[in-house]
Amino acid sequence: MPFQKPQRTVERVFIHCSASDHPHHDDVDVMRRWHTDPKPQGRGWRDIGYHYFIRKTGRLEEGRPLEETPAAQAGHNTRTIAICVHGLENHRFTGHQFNALVKLCKEIDAAYESQVTFHGHREVSSKSCPVFDFARVLGLSEDGSMTQPPITDREDPVSPELERPVLRLTDRGDAVMILQILLNRHGANLLEDGIFGRGTFEAVIAYQVDKGLKPDGIVGPATWGSLG
Ligand SMILES: [Zn+2]
Repeated sequence: MPFQKPQRTVERVFIHCSASDHPHHDDVDVMRRWHTDPKPQGRGWRDIGYHYFIRKTGRLEEGRPLEETPAAQAGHNTRTIAICVHGLENHRFTGHQFNALVKLCKEIDAAYESQVTFHGHREVSSKSCPVFDFARVLGLSEDGSMTQPPITDREDPVSPELERPVLRLTDRGDAVMILQILLNRHGANLLEDGIFGRGTFEAVIAYQVDKGLKPDGIVGPATWGSLG
């Protein structure tokens, strides 16, 4: 979907991060629920605060309609567009995300004939949002103009070894949750809680038997590779 200028005036574009690396939060609909669920669970807003959400895969998702003012930078929402990039830790943002962000911002910049500037939420807030170096990613000058060639050649910082460690019974964490999500896609019915318990162990063995892998219940490169 190429960027289409809204009718309302836009002067600034703000970049945010979602402050989560949780795989379940990598979804504009989850973010929308956080913003629209009634207080105290959510914010009680009528829609998601951001206009765009960029997933770890670089997939661009639409949030609040562009025609509406965002709810993203307290006191600095009018005449802005708000973009949220999913992630919390700097090293875990992906090259796909930065490429998608650059592409979107270039389209916005072109639509406004470079009469818009690009900013980080942290410029108008005490928060550290976004945590990555957005000015470098977008090639911004001091005033936020997209004048320099953007840095689009970032090596994807998510190394397979980091994301796909060898897993076994009693392990915990995000990688276990990714494993559970993948096993569920292959017909398992596991709670995606990031805990490698007996149920996950048995699902791994069943999967390994099914695929002709060594059925040891340990998730190494062969099992990860097969899960895709
Ligand atoms: Zn923010």
